[in-house]
Amino acid sequence: MKYYSTNGQAPLASLEKAVIRGLAEDRGLYMPERIPVLPEEFYQNIQTMTFQEIACTVADALFGEDIPAEELHRIVEETLSFDCPVVPVTRSIGALELFHGPTLAFKDVGARFMARLLRHFTQHSGDPRTIHVLVATSGDTGSAVANGFLGVEGVCVHVLYPKGKVSPIQECQFTTLGQNITALEVDGCFDDCQALVKSAFMDAELTERLRLTSANSINVARLLPQSFYYFHGYAQMKRLGLAGQLVVCVPSGNFGNLCAALIAGRMGLPVKRFVAANNANQVFFDYLQTGKYTPRPSIPTLANAMDVGDPSNFARIFELYGRDWQAICGDISGSVCDDTRILALIKQCRAQYGYLLDPHGACGFDAVYHRLGRGESALLCETAHPAKFKDTVERATGIPVDVPTRLAAFMQGTKQSVPISKDYREFKEYLSNLQ
Ligand SMILES: *Cc1c(COP(=O)(O)O)cnc(C)c1O
Repeated sequence: MKYYSTNGQAPLASLEKAVIRGLAEDRGLYMPERIPVLPEEFYQNIQTMTFQEIACTVADALFGEDIPAEELHRIVEETLSFDCPVVPVTRSIGALELFHGPTLAFKDVGARFMARLLRHFTQHSGDPRTIHVLVATSGDTGSAVANGFLGVEGVCVHVLYPKGKVSPIQECQFTTLGQNITALEVDGCFDDCQALVKSAFMDAELTERLRLTSANSINVARLLPQSFYYFHGYAQMKRLGLAGQLVVCVPSGNFGNLCAALIAGRMGLPVKRFVAANNANQVFFDYLQTGKYTPRPSIPTLANAMDVGDPSNFARIFELYGRDWQAICGDISGSVCDDTRILALIKQCRAQYGYLLDPHGACGFDAVYHRLGRGESALLCETAHPAKFKDTVERATGIPVDVPTRLAAFMQGTKQSVPISKDYREFKEYLSNLQ
């Protein structure tokens, strides 16, 4: 499979090149040249298959030309060492819990898959150099990437995070790991961290000597494996007798996860329509209303992993629909949920249905609760464990939230970080000492 750039000015790339480069030469995002449609009988039998079996079938279709089947299945099996159950919430809404991975966020699957793909490429490329992954984080991405890459041979991860601006638990999730993970504590804000990473990628002196790559959601290796979720979610809804007119609702920030859902739809997954649930950052919602895409600075909300004012995967969605606004509106609707409503819905859903939402899932619940048509049912993505947003959830419900042992365990480790300023020269000196 070849990958093309959404900007149309870069040469086609192999999977290896698309994964190692991240962004195409023309700064566009890579897209698979064609989206394979899976056979009818797969969908007829899907409810009898396990998550791993389903994911192997999807992975074969997407990556089978590029990775030998046995290795690909090993990558999938190592990636999916946990389940993503559908928990019925109301009679017509099932929550697809995407948060049972090591850092309790859905980004674990993409990060783990990408790490193992890179391991495969380092073992087979003939270039013996270590791959250095640079990632700037405001919290969740750093923890998922650091844990996903932990102990993977041939790859080192450098997480840049703003000093004092990530939650204590998130900080522990990437500063206590050791091995091939280094945390750089930047005396600055998230934008400073991102600027340092960008400067490094544009520094020819460095990029010629070191193999540098990034691991944010623009990378196809993080994006495409997220489509596994939707097939597995569909299979479970089918078992519940709720897949006849299925609405898939995705709480969205950079729109990588929704994009993966749309790709699953193109592969033939029987989904009636999609809903992009937003918090108060409503750039996409406004686009659906007006046909004009106007990026804006993000505003902080309780669902902070969705505080994005210029979603990076918008270009991919645009591309999937041939830049046709009406076609996009035909498949996708939007919703906006402010902080007051997030708190009210967490409380109401817990009281009425006994299900505890996190602030991101609450935005999704808002988008489908009492908003389904006759005969429709909704697969609602729950993107984070409520304990990760303990304070907000307790404030909403007045009930203490148990912290899973897995999450609490991160707090036991010893924090180790390299303090640096936001001055690029200091970061460059750090990178210059790497091999
Ligand atoms: C990253 C994240 C999102 C947003 O996902 P996108 O793919 O960027 O749209 C939503 N919820 C949680 C908890 C996240 O960590």
